Amino acid sequence: MSELISSKIKIKKRVFLGLLLVALLFLLLASFYLLIVASSRYAAYLRSIFVVFIFSTLIFTLLFLFGLLAIVLTLLQKRTLPFPRWFMEKTLLLLYPFVLQIGRFTHIAQERIQRSFIEVNNQLIYARAFNVKAGELLLLLPHCLQNDGCSYKITRNAENCRRCGKCQLPEILEISSRSGIKVRVVSGGTLARRALKEYGPRAVVAVACERDLSSGIIDSFPLPVVGVLNERPHGPCFNTRVNLTALQDSIDFFLAENIN
Ligand code: SF4
Repeated sequence: MSELISSKIKIKKRVFLGLLLVALLFLLLASFYLLIVASSRYAAYLRSIFVVFIFSTLIFTLLFLFGLLAIVLTLLQKRTLPFPRWFMEKTLLLLYPFVLQIGRFTHIAQERIQRSFIEVNNQLIYARAFNVKAGELLLLLPHCLQNDGCSYKITRNAENCRRCGKCQLPEILEISSRSGIKVRVVSGGTLARRALKEYGPRAVVAVACERDLSSGIIDSFPLPVVGVLNERPHGPCFNTRVNLTALQDSIDFFLAENIN
């Protein structure tokens, strides 16, 4: 089963990493091209300003290339070191919007890129060692997991759920109480940010769609957020579901040191 998951993940990761490489090669070629243009066309004083600017871009691009290399090596070795981690995080954080633009330009679905980015992020987190206590881990759930006809205010307090069984909330609450972690149901990014401020967790397991998860992961950097994609059998934002095994595995990963 885990091999099946990792082979699926391998395919997905390539989308984001491939586009990241394309983005960096584009930056590199554009810098060289501008350097050639600058050295032949402009007056001396303008040329030196231009050249300094292009050289800075070149240096950043090379650092990002180092970040990409560190990401690939970490994913292959399944372990990371603190020094390259800084470069990896900056590469992901700063180039993510650029990668999305390249995806738009090459007609690759944004959802596919976001899914791939989430997998890369998750695997980079799984390559690190954490020692998170149950009280320091927050489970963030989207409001759309709740049955559409339910009138109980679970965004105020997830324990308001009456466990009628019309949605997966009872099973999820059972997982969270068994693990002793905090849980919060949110209806959007603002409430998610408020929950992070309120609880100040050391790590987060978040369930959401591709768009919300990827933007949440970016917004929360450097806080480690493992993303679990929701399932949408009835379409987006309506009576969604989550794979409970994947959810439990993500929680167990953070708590592993304290469970054993
Ligand atoms: S299980 Fe809880 S949240 Fe889901 S519909 Fe029933 S009362 Fe509402």
